[in-house]
Amino acid sequence: YSAKHSQEPTRVYRPPQGQSAHQALLVGQRLRRLIGGEEGAIALHCQPLVALDDGTVREFEVLSRLDTQDMGRLTPDHFIPVAERNGLIVDLDRLVLKQTVSAMADTDTVLSVNIAAPTLYHADFPAYIGTLLADAGVAPHRLYLEITERVVTDPGRALTALEALSSAGVRIALDDFGTGYSSLTVLADLPIHRIKIDRRFIQQLGTEPPLQRAIIESVVAMADGLGVSLVAEGIETDTQEQAVRDHGIRLAQGYRFGRPEPMGR
Ligand code: C2E
Ligand code: MG
Ligand code: MG
Ligand code: MG
Repeated sequence: YSAKHSQEPTRVYRPPQGQSAHQALLVGQRLRRLIGGEEGAIALHCQPLVALDDGTVREFEVLSRLDTQDMGRLTPDHFIPVAERNGLIVDLDRLVLKQTVSAMADTDTVLSVNIAAPTLYHADFPAYIGTLLADAGVAPHRLYLEITERVVTDPGRALTALEALSSAGVRIALDDFGTGYSSLTVLADLPIHRIKIDRRFIQQLGTEPPLQRAIIESVVAMADGLGVSLVAEGIETDTQEQAVRDHGIRLAQGYRFGRPEPMGR
């Protein structure tokens, strides 16, 4: 987790805790074979987003796991940074999107998929997504693409891609909000439909000092002003749930409501 969420603009690769450089090398090999269609599988998992007013679940976030024969099932912190470093992330994200959209054809749920900056920036990405959705007969508004503030490091490129996706009807969520450095003026210019407040903020709720409380309140006010929906990520306790409700946030995600589970088909 820490490697992916590192805010430093550095190219130094730090394996997640417990992952040696050798293991990272093996993961890179597995990813290459997976993308080449030779072996291995991406096991898509889904975590529910809960509407706090009535407890209903109409949406899920897709979270990838990598199945390997020798290392078992790996979580994203073990392979997303490797994929980003090895230039495999675009193919990996597209594989996930392809499987997700094909699963969507059988249901009417709304799904969110995480994509990395190089995936978004790839010149034919909006066309790729458009074709995927059209071929599967899936309405574009049922798909959210989750991007992090890191894509906003290149606002020009982000704007071009996001505008194309958005005008095709695909919805955009800004993930891990509050962990990056993007300015609010830049964000206000991007076609974003939803903001997901990072769990590091959420987990301080209920016990937060006044300044923290003021920050959350200003995020809620900003979201209202921009007309975007808010999701509170990483809710684990009753106290956190209550605090999120008290702040007027209506959509929530976290172990309290459900862990990521293998996607049924
Ligand atoms: P994210 O998009 O912010 O996803 C939320 C992460 O928080 C997930 O970790 C989820 O399992 C975890 N989580 C959810 N509820 C709770 C909670 O109550 N407590 C705690 N402690 N954690 C919770 P996961 O599945 O390990 O994914 C980590 C990150 O990897 C994701 O963060 C996302 O940025 C990235 N990721 C996952 N799948 C993909 C993918 O297919 N492509 C790309 N590019 N990135 C992906
Ligand atoms: Mg996400
Ligand atoms: Mg997040
Ligand atoms: Mg994240």
